[in-house]
Amino acid sequence: MDMPVLAPFQRIILATTNDGKIRELAEPLHSFGVDVLGLANFPEIGSIEENGDSFEENALIKARTVSAITGLLSVADDSGLEVDALDGAPGIHSARYSNDWESLPGESRDARNMRKLLHELANVPEESRGCRFVCCMAAVRPDGKEFVARGIWEGRILHEPRGSNGFGYDPIFGIPALGKSAAQLTREEKNACSHRGNALRRLLANWENFTS
Ligand code: IMP
Repeated sequence: MDMPVLAPFQRIILATTNDGKIRELAEPLHSFGVDVLGLANFPEIGSIEENGDSFEENALIKARTVSAITGLLSVADDSGLEVDALDGAPGIHSARYSNDWESLPGESRDARNMRKLLHELANVPEESRGCRFVCCMAAVRPDGKEFVARGIWEGRILHEPRGSNGFGYDPIFGIPALGKSAAQLTREEKNACSHRGNALRRLLANWENFTS
């Protein structure tokens, strides 16, 4: 009996348990005949230490680790916010930026991060409040071939939070051309211009070349 011919990378693994991120990658890759699994399918892979000095390195560390353990092509992302007035901080430390601050009663980590950032920028004038979200998506094949796609999204740090969509620093990330914060955009509007959307489009544009 003839065996069906399998595409070389018919199943890949995204190094996250975040269902939203898995869906984002799974939908466009279905048109390439690719199934996207998440880390929930591999409970033996514990947390991976992200000890790189850049978004690129951290994304590669995650993708290399997961590819080595599973034998599958793995994709991982790393992202964060760079603020010009803080010489690029919080950068790769964005998620844990305010871990040295005490939370107010009922305050989430995202809200505490924004409160610290607004405090640090309290005396920074409008023209110096430039910032950007950065996202690096690394793809690593089991044979060691690697590709990193970088996406950026330029904005300005607002003086107070606006909007309630999204997550993280979205409420204080202002988009001057739209007169809105990232938290005032729908998911589709955000994906169309975000750092993650831009990195994903770059990865997909290179997918056939990378997998052949
Ligand atoms: P991670 O790469 O998903 O771990 O994200 C790192 C951190 O960067 C998040 O916890 C957020 O604080 C921040 N961040 C990354 N992307 C976004 C975004 O699209 N909106 C708001 N904050 C973000």
